[in-house]
Amino acid sequence: MARLVRKLIWQQTAPAPFESGWSVFSKLLLLNQIKPSQLASLLQSPDVENNNRLRFRNSDWIDLEQFSEMLSVNPNRLRQCFFDQLQIHVEESYSQLKNDGIKICPECLAKGYHCIFFELGFIDICPWHHIALEQACADCLRAVYSKGLQFNRRQNHLGQVNPDDLTKALGEWKSICNHLVFEVDIVRKLNQMSQEQELEINHKCRLLYGWIKTAQTRLDLTGKLYCYTNLGADGFEKFFNAAEKIAGACPWPVNHKRSPVKWILLNERQKSTAQTDESFHRNPDLDSIYKSIRRHIFTRYVKNHRACHKGIINLKRDESLSLDTEKVCSIALAYNVWRLKIEKFINVEALKQNVSLNRVITPPDFYVSDIPLTTELQANFLYLQFFYIWEQIDRNIGKNSIAINSTGLPYQATDMALTYARGNLSIIFAQPEHLTNRAFKNCVERYKVSQSLQNQRFSRIWGYGHYDNLMSNQLGLMFKLTKFQSVPAQRSIIYINV
Ligand SMILES: [Zn+2]
Ligand SMILES: [Zn+2]
Ligand SMILES: [Zn+2]
Repeated sequence: MARLVRKLIWQQTAPAPFESGWSVFSKLLLLNQIKPSQLASLLQSPDVENNNRLRFRNSDWIDLEQFSEMLSVNPNRLRQCFFDQLQIHVEESYSQLKNDGIKICPECLAKGYHCIFFELGFIDICPWHHIALEQACADCLRAVYSKGLQFNRRQNHLGQVNPDDLTKALGEWKSICNHLVFEVDIVRKLNQMSQEQELEINHKCRLLYGWIKTAQTRLDLTGKLYCYTNLGADGFEKFFNAAEKIAGACPWPVNHKRSPVKWILLNERQKSTAQTDESFHRNPDLDSIYKSIRRHIFTRYVKNHRACHKGIINLKRDESLSLDTEKVCSIALAYNVWRLKIEKFINVEALKQNVSLNRVITPPDFYVSDIPLTTELQANFLYLQFFYIWEQIDRNIGKNSIAINSTGLPYQATDMALTYARGNLSIIFAQPEHLTNRAFKNCVERYKVSQSLQNQRFSRIWGYGHYDNLMSNQLGLMFKLTKFQSVPAQRSIIYINV
């Protein structure tokens, strides 16, 4: 039975390959002079709950066949405009609170183009114009998602608006940020690219798509690499580096720090594939597991830096708070910070005197609804926590002033770069071999300089953070490191909170 389809005003040259849903919808709003809520109710499939927001990243709410009939274009062209059609899982937020917005390339936008892959968090350079994408613009997002474009009447030469002009012929439609500007009296071509340019776009987009799909075979990454997850920059970089490790160098230019990563895969059914002590499985008690992890880490990583370790563990409290940032070995410091954190101290003298023997350790804090926090998982978190602390210290050691501070809270395991899909939990961390090599290089140089770890130029303890109580459970400073003679300005101190 034939059905009536309302036609929307459109041009057959659009959409261009992999043009974003945001771009397509902005053009539809303009050409048809409608509000986002009106367009949403025209497009939505009948079995979807009524929604007056115009979601442009996924098409699960759209009757795509009907949509293509409305525009008289092949549905396959529209499929490239939405992530779900490309089978890339993204979490849609559209939330100001999460700094969500649209990243544009001004050169592309001038030709009427915005690529769907600009929406991915790790894309920050336009591969066609080799310029940085602009910072995510929230007004661009809202203009299409909810608010619509605003009409500005053009003023006459006296600077007045003619209230009798009902034609709306003179003026422009735009987003309040002025990224989207459509002049009404110009018949605008929706797609101003040549055929060669379109072929080039298609080619580059397919390369990136292939890369994403390849990375996806081993880790569920795109959800994490999408703009507006709550990932910090460190976590983000870990996912990106993991993707490159699987799929090779990203085919588009990107401006990210490259550093080697590794990951462990924990399967719900299978036992851990992590290389951890056999004794983990023999003894399920977390305290004794921790002790064997500690032995393992010491033998494997700290032993070669035994002298450095002795230097740290023999420190008096006041010495811990006046270290020289250029003389301390990152691995020895990391190991002791990790121990202090887990054994709930801030004073390294407590470790030396073994007051921790009867202490119950703090398990890491972890809650993800469908992943049970087994002892095995806790053990893995304890183990990986060491590499996270080590990496943070390694990145900052040598800088002007560093304060390593205990928050007094259990370690937040979800701060790690972890991803969960199909019953597999993967946790990505800095490659230990890479950290070991860096530690070795720095260490040799440091120990030529001096045997004392203290900042000789500066013996006064700066300000605060002094506790004599060995057993102190209190939050507070574990170590302070400085480079120069003067007390560092508060804003120049790098805090490593563990
Ligand atoms: Zn561009
Ligand atoms: Zn904007
Ligand atoms: Zn060392």
